[in-house]
Amino acid sequence: MREFLSNLLFGGSCFLCRGAARGILCPACDADLPRLAGTLCPRCALPSPGSAVCGRCLADAPHYDATVAALAYRFPADTLVHSLKFRGQLALAPLMGDLLVEKIMERIDLVVPVPLSRERLRERGYNQAAEIARHVAKACRVRLELTIIARERNTQAQADLPWSERARNVRGAFRCERSLDGAAIAVVDDVMTTGATLDELAATLKRAGAARVVNWVVARTFPPNA
Ligand SMILES: [Zn+2]
Ligand SMILES: [Zn+2]
Repeated sequence: MREFLSNLLFGGSCFLCRGAARGILCPACDADLPRLAGTLCPRCALPSPGSAVCGRCLADAPHYDATVAALAYRFPADTLVHSLKFRGQLALAPLMGDLLVEKIMERIDLVVPVPLSRERLRERGYNQAAEIARHVAKACRVRLELTIIARERNTQAQADLPWSERARNVRGAFRCERSLDGAAIAVVDDVMTTGATLDELAATLKRAGAARVVNWVVARTFPPNA
């Protein structure tokens, strides 16, 4: 079915190189995706020798417990992310969801996408994180919750801010509608950059009673000095 859909949408040609493809990407482009490998900090998914918890996470522990990231945020992962987020290419969501599912080892209770504010959702018409989360939840047979977290303020887009100001920008941005007694929750997003948004969201979920919060992100940006 997905193959059929992608053939309809992309005319049987690869989304990236326009070569012949049975799915969204041809085998060569799929093989060239910058899949994350090597030793990463289990908590924030940045490079760390021996896959130990990294110095930053030890010095200033984030509220989330772990991060799974599928790709490094560089070409062509950035093209895929932008096309889903800004060009309405919703058929890319299952592809990105599948890349995440390949890496997921942990059983959790609920999948939650990073929410958009109501204003931004109205502008864009969809939440790209929710589109990815929908696919991941289905593939992992886990319950998807689209409404337990509300984004209270329409914060300035994190991408428009210097990294040092991003934590302040999202502080208090989320509200949890429900008690989450002891649940293990996976938060899905397209890109993780400083992790400030995911940290604030994890703090909100833990205040609501979540026992464990893990990030499942399609692409991870590496800071200049990582
Ligand atoms: Zn291709
Ligand atoms: Zn770390």
